[in-house]
Amino acid sequence: MSIPRVNLPADARLDTLAVREGLPPTPWGENSEALFLTSSFVHPDAATAARRFANEEEAFVYSRFSNPTVTMMERRLAALEGTEACIGTASGMAAITMIILGLLKAGDHVVCSQSTFGSTIKLFQDFAKYGVTTSFVSQTDVAAWKAAVRPETKLLFAESPTNPLTEVCDIRALADIAHEAGALLAVDNCFCSPALQRPAEMGADLVMHSGTKYLDGQGRVIAGALCGSEALINGKFVPVMRSAGLSLSPFNAWVVLKGMETLSIRMEAQSARALKLAQWLEQQPAVERVYYPGLASHPQHELAMRQQRGLGGAVLSFTVKGGREGAWAVSDATRICSVTSNLGDTKTTLTHPSTTSHGRLSEEQRQAAGITQGLLRVAVGLEDVQDLQNDLLAGLSQLA
Ligand SMILES: *Cc1c(COP(=O)(O)O)cnc(C)c1O
Repeated sequence: MSIPRVNLPADARLDTLAVREGLPPTPWGENSEALFLTSSFVHPDAATAARRFANEEEAFVYSRFSNPTVTMMERRLAALEGTEACIGTASGMAAITMIILGLLKAGDHVVCSQSTFGSTIKLFQDFAKYGVTTSFVSQTDVAAWKAAVRPETKLLFAESPTNPLTEVCDIRALADIAHEAGALLAVDNCFCSPALQRPAEMGADLVMHSGTKYLDGQGRVIAGALCGSEALINGKFVPVMRSAGLSLSPFNAWVVLKGMETLSIRMEAQSARALKLAQWLEQQPAVERVYYPGLASHPQHELAMRQQRGLGGAVLSFTVKGGREGAWAVSDATRICSVTSNLGDTKTTLTHPSTTSHGRLSEEQRQAAGITQGLLRVAVGLEDVQDLQNDLLAGLSQLA
């Protein structure tokens, strides 16, 4: 026996897979995917149990290893990313921990963008105590990535666009550098999601997700995933999952699974709103600069449009006049935007990075990273754009 697939035409397209890919329904014929809240699975007889534990027969055994709801979510995300396989994890950070545990050993070296998510940088730094060292390089300088590669480099890790300045890296160029060096490229695809960007098509070996963000899309659960070839997922990461237990809960998998059904229409609608808001912000006298890949003024605009299906995504940042006081005045005057550091929600969120997500850095490190005191980040949701403009204008009009 092997675990069957849902019966879909082989040429079913992305929007169809987003709604339909998974496991066949149970004998009850449910139309919405079932939530299997069970820690273990029952075997018909002792000989079958033995075969299943010896991996001679594919079946569900224990939800630390696999679970039908989690498998549905994994199959759906793999289909959207265009990879052979996917493994769900407890969080986005658990997915990166899996990459390190599954691929690297003492003496190995990693090259990582210096602009990745803060906890990602911290995690790679923490693994130095186990002998895995990391060089951090400029997000956009391809030559710097190449120069940082050493004979013991096993992994390049990138994220695009980055938080909060929306810097875009050339995924194809980084894949070529990795492969010439006999290393792998992993890409954190949180900000675009497969609705806008499919890193595996550009040569990435692993695509990492925080399901917490756009895959769920409504800010409800913590979840993560890694997508890649069967050889990598089954060969390197399934064994780590079995022993290390970074497992995704079936309930959270179910929420993400259902969230993916509306992923592409949300990403398109939220990108359209973000573009309108970014264009409007560029016109405001109290705004010094706007960072958004969908604007022609963005330094990697053309690359972003090529990599991201012509859309800028839902996250933008801008600097206001008056430094920290100015930024806080805008934040404090809002009545619609949620002042929180999460993103990927249908509710627009507003963040002051230098005193929250990037508050642990020294002022010097923040300056080097471009995270100034006047910077605000907006992760645009699904509210009416006019209402969002009015919400920001309440504070901006005090500054101009
Ligand atoms: C949130 C986030 C993560 C971490 O995901 P969690 O689910 O919170 O563990 C990693 N990368 C990026 C880009 C993120 O935004």
